Amino acid sequence: MFHVSSPINGHPAAGQGSSMHGRTVLVVHAHPDDEAIFTGVTIRRLADAGARVVLVTATLGDLGQARTPLRAGETLVQRRTSELEQAAELLGVARLVLLGRRDSGLPGSIDNLHPDALAAADAELIAVRLAELVEAEGAEAVIHDDDAGIYGHPDHVAVNRIGARAAGLAGVTSYQTTVDRDHLHDARPHLVHAAARATALPFGVARSEVGLALAATPSELAAKRAAIAAHASQIGPAELAHASFDDAYGYEWYLRTGGAGILDDLATGPAVTRPAVLATAP
Ligand SMILES: [Zn+2]
Repeated sequence: MFHVSSPINGHPAAGQGSSMHGRTVLVVHAHPDDEAIFTGVTIRRLADAGARVVLVTATLGDLGQARTPLRAGETLVQRRTSELEQAAELLGVARLVLLGRRDSGLPGSIDNLHPDALAAADAELIAVRLAELVEAEGAEAVIHDDDAGIYGHPDHVAVNRIGARAAGLAGVTSYQTTVDRDHLHDARPHLVHAAARATALPFGVARSEVGLALAATPSELAAKRAAIAAHASQIGPAELAHASFDDAYGYEWYLRTGGAGILDDLATGPAVTRPAVLATAP
């Protein structure tokens, strides 16, 4: 069942640069916080260029643990929903769509078998619904996890299957979110390091396999940092304050299936300032 939230009005995308006005992208993620961690710079840049970004979040991360106290009567799902809405607004998302699936556990966990778990869902059914959303929105590309789910989490693997299939059904370009593991070998820590330790699987792809990399401008990186910080129930300040933050989070990486599309334009388009080379964080 699709739950469609109200449009977020915080960042009217047009105005700062309208080179991508009228163009739309669907960004699909497994959990609240993935949009900020893996695609925050990309979403902010798309929005700043005038594109409409529709963010689809498949679960509300119900299996996470709250690092910050919940209010009386507040559930973790309520907290994570409001954090997600805040992050989406900071990134300039135009519409947030919640699929309402249950979080799955780590590989092999019994939680993967729960009937509502994303990992146990009928991927074809969800892909068909997403393809309908692509068509209804007139989206020209779908962004989703890579084949291995970036670091092997069953929900991220499911998002790969669903996103790739939806793009195929709708006949649009598909961009797979990944990470450059060679870069992150040097620029650490990144949250994916701890995530990959939890799944005990390798993460990302080798640098030579990366199809497209975006480097953040300082303001895009600031928006990404704020969006990650919005997920305070999951991510503490120490994880954002380390010296390698800019180097670890200042880049986003993709593999492409299909013809060159909007992210290629974003990386090279004349209306978007060429990314500045990042200085080392103080
Ligand atoms: Zn995730």
